[in-house]
Amino acid sequence: MSAALGVRHDWTRDQILALFNLPFNDLLFRAHSVHRQHFDPNQVQVSTLCSIKTGACPEDCAYCPQSARYDTGLEREQLMAVEKVLEEARAAKAGGATRFCMGAAWRSPKNKDMPYVTSMVKGVKELGLETCMTLGMLTTEQAQSLAQAGLDYYNHNLDTSPEYYGEVITTRTYQDRLETLANVRAAGMKVCCGGIVGMGEEVKDRAGLLQQLVNMPEHPESVPINMLVRVEGTPLADEQDLDPFDFIRTIAVARILMPKSHVRLSAGREGMNEQTQALAFFAGANSIFYGAKLLTTPNPESDRDRQLFHKLGIEPEAYEVSGESSEFTPPKQRPAASHSMFYNAAG
Ligand code: SF4
Repeated sequence: MSAALGVRHDWTRDQILALFNLPFNDLLFRAHSVHRQHFDPNQVQVSTLCSIKTGACPEDCAYCPQSARYDTGLEREQLMAVEKVLEEARAAKAGGATRFCMGAAWRSPKNKDMPYVTSMVKGVKELGLETCMTLGMLTTEQAQSLAQAGLDYYNHNLDTSPEYYGEVITTRTYQDRLETLANVRAAGMKVCCGGIVGMGEEVKDRAGLLQQLVNMPEHPESVPINMLVRVEGTPLADEQDLDPFDFIRTIAVARILMPKSHVRLSAGREGMNEQTQALAFFAGANSIFYGAKLLTTPNPESDRDRQLFHKLGIEPEAYEVSGESSEFTPPKQRPAASHSMFYNAAG
């Protein structure tokens, strides 16, 4: 896309920092103006997330209760049976989700797991839902088989800046993550990629994360911005609270940099009041997880989300499959791009 349309891939760290440093009202005005050019500001995409394999992950992501290295009291679960996953997907659809996201706490899937996960993708697609998975690192072949099964999105987060990354994860490199993302793109799937704020990083690291995302050859269609959920037993359990305005600034800068991507208000929403969430929507967030649990961390219950949407006049964005649309009111305007996701899965 051309720079004339506001989609660039050549942002410097200083230019991004300059956005972070704008007066708050100037930043929000600019982000909201960009948002309105590309999206209906009163629509938010809604996904439901299902943990298809929980805990016992060999990685050491310092924020994650699913790492086998930390004693967080999390109950481990084996890979779910395909039919059980489809049951959850049917319930998610009945609850209004248009996308079903499946996460497994793996470093990477084993080849023996692939027939199960590809069956899940096919089954969920047949229900008329968009599909997304997060399974850890993927080889070229694994990415291709997921794409052939019909997987729409693959989530793999960069988490933070390249400079701060080593403070958070030591068992896989930034480059490993970039390679998985390249495999996902090469297989033709949409990319869901974002990070986490509130892990003790500085503003320059938030700028560094967004710089990595925006300067990819194609922007991720979906950019989850997570607020750290501090979990007892993880190394980041005692991290200090992030000022909610710093979180909103991160959303706003992501919106300006990646005007056609869905920016997802992801983990950490439970700890935000309605006003902070409303400000995040104004700043350009237009995707959320909906349902009782965001993998293993609490997520606002669906009816609270419904109430908030009602108060703000927000409608869930419809996803149309073969002429059939979700149960919600059809959108007034179809967005040009798509959406989503998490952490605390195989981020
Ligand atoms: S974030 Fe993912 S890769 Fe890291 S420990 Fe948790 S489940 Fe494992």
